[in-house]
Amino acid sequence: MNYIDMTLPEMTEAVARMGEKAFRAKQIYEWINLKNAVSWDEMTNLSKALRQRLEREEPLHSPRKREVLISKIDGTRKYLFEMYDGSLVESVLMKYRHGNTVCISSQVGCRMGCAFCASTIGGLTRNLTAGEMLGQVYAVESDLGERISNVVVMGTGEPLDNYDNLVRFIRMLTDEDGHHISERNVTVSTCGIVPGIKKLKEEKLMINLALSLHAPNDELRRTIMPIAKSYPLREVLGAMDEYYQSTGRRLTFEYSLIEGVNDSDKCAAQLAEKIKKFNCLVNLIPVNPVRERKFTPPDRLAAFAFQKKLEKNGINVTIRREMGRDIDGACGQLRKRYLETDNL
Ligand code: SAH
Repeated sequence: MNYIDMTLPEMTEAVARMGEKAFRAKQIYEWINLKNAVSWDEMTNLSKALRQRLEREEPLHSPRKREVLISKIDGTRKYLFEMYDGSLVESVLMKYRHGNTVCISSQVGCRMGCAFCASTIGGLTRNLTAGEMLGQVYAVESDLGERISNVVVMGTGEPLDNYDNLVRFIRMLTDEDGHHISERNVTVSTCGIVPGIKKLKEEKLMINLALSLHAPNDELRRTIMPIAKSYPLREVLGAMDEYYQSTGRRLTFEYSLIEGVNDSDKCAAQLAEKIKKFNCLVNLIPVNPVRERKFTPPDRLAAFAFQKKLEKNGINVTIRREMGRDIDGACGQLRKRYLETDNL
């Protein structure tokens, strides 16, 4: 296991195996997980000899910044990171009044196949490790020079398709010896893998769970989200309800509005009927047009009407504010642009 993926107890064992004193583990753990170090060389309270040995025997797999685009409109930053094996992933920093939020990727590519999503077009290359997910947060924080308070796992990849690494990542991110971000400030978004949702409930983490719903019935959902063929809405919403009962955390339902597909009055009415019994927030996302896809967002008035229809049923709704409109469109587009050119 790479040092960026190790918990403090694991690092203590690894350091002991090298014949080093236990307190070295705490020092290294803090360099990586508190002070955002990405190289052994930075760890100046280790002896030069030890740093050189670690560099030789245990090269760090921290993500490296390849590109950053900064929005002139709202300060949003889009990052492209390169992993030790050359894999590219995107992360996004969003500046809100309540703090700095980083949106991280959980996989290199994705195999869920949602029809409107750019991240799935090339399929799944591999899972990201816990350290590679943490590394995205740390690298953004270093680059920004301000503390990150919130983390959302809503970038490329399906987090529950990379379950063990996801849970390790959350435990390390919230570890009091590390960055110690509050569980309540972490949100995981899933396309609705029912066994994963049920398992996550058992972890007793107080994190927020968001479900990508995108359709109010199975028939329509199956046409845009292949995962709906495995898990019908009744089961997905049942698992979400269990998650709420066990954690008390308000649920989020994401609904990408696609013109002529899922934005009708009838869809809004059906959606309201399905979810009005939940303590939830519906996040309407006018679909981000992806070059390879034919979907377009409804106009503002239509999105507004959809929102009103839900609100009439007592449902909390926000229309997602478009962040960083000037710095490249939909999620996964920056990485795709790189993969398509001979930039590699
Ligand atoms: N795999 C996870 C998280 C990644 S995507 C999931 O499915 O939830 C984060 C959110 O953005 C999801 O709700 C996803 O469906 C949505 N999304 C993906 N592509 C989009 C696009 N082009 N326009 C609007 N929303 C999109």
